[in-house]
Amino acid sequence: MAARARRAADLPDLDGAISGCFACPRLVAWREEVARTKRAAFRDQEYWGRPVPGLGASDARIAILGLAPAAHGGNRTGRVFTGDRSGDVLFAALHRAGLANQPTSVARDDGLALRATRIFAAVRCAPPDNKPTPDERDTCAPWLHRELELIRPTLRVVVALGAFAWAAWWPALRAVYGVRPPSPRPVFGHGAHWSGTAVPELLGCYHVSQQNTFTGRLTPRMLDEVFTRAKQVAGVD
Ligand code: SF4
Repeated sequence: MAARARRAADLPDLDGAISGCFACPRLVAWREEVARTKRAAFRDQEYWGRPVPGLGASDARIAILGLAPAAHGGNRTGRVFTGDRSGDVLFAALHRAGLANQPTSVARDDGLALRATRIFAAVRCAPPDNKPTPDERDTCAPWLHRELELIRPTLRVVVALGAFAWAAWWPALRAVYGVRPPSPRPVFGHGAHWSGTAVPELLGCYHVSQQNTFTGRLTPRMLDEVFTRAKQVAGVD
């Protein structure tokens, strides 16, 4: 699977290869079981039930790194952050920032387009309880690393949504950029910022999960501040 990731010639090739991955037995079983049993509200829909590739521009200057697809969101629709409450919050913010052409993301054919931005997750299959294991994160890392390599010429900043994504960034420094990660690792927090030499800068942002947005831990204004900063760092108008 790592060899297949390295061979991916471009993003469409990579996206296709990711969609056919079966490397994690626990996650393969879970994504398929969810797709079979479904949530009552979606029982008439055909679930995607496969790994969810990245979304967005091949010349992205901004990357948004999430945790993993939601069982009834990306795992249902086949597009990252699409069809769930987390995506509602994220795409509304991207639209306010001028990075998405519409404020909603409900299905793969809904006309959504991103500007200068690519979104992907550290783990590409929906995990039980939204909790991938460290082994699953490491197994999935070659997909992330190849995706970063393919957008490396333009990428200037990575927004890590939550501590899991923040932690997933450091191995990419060595794998993609040949740079030793800082030690000790910078601590995740909302608004945390790290920069190195000749590598994208890293911004921390609380995850757009319902747990954070319903409780007010993460507000639309806080998201707007993060994306304003990301645009400044990336030189996006
Ligand atoms: S989590 Fe990643 S490595 Fe594991 S099966 Fe899904 S796509 Fe493959």
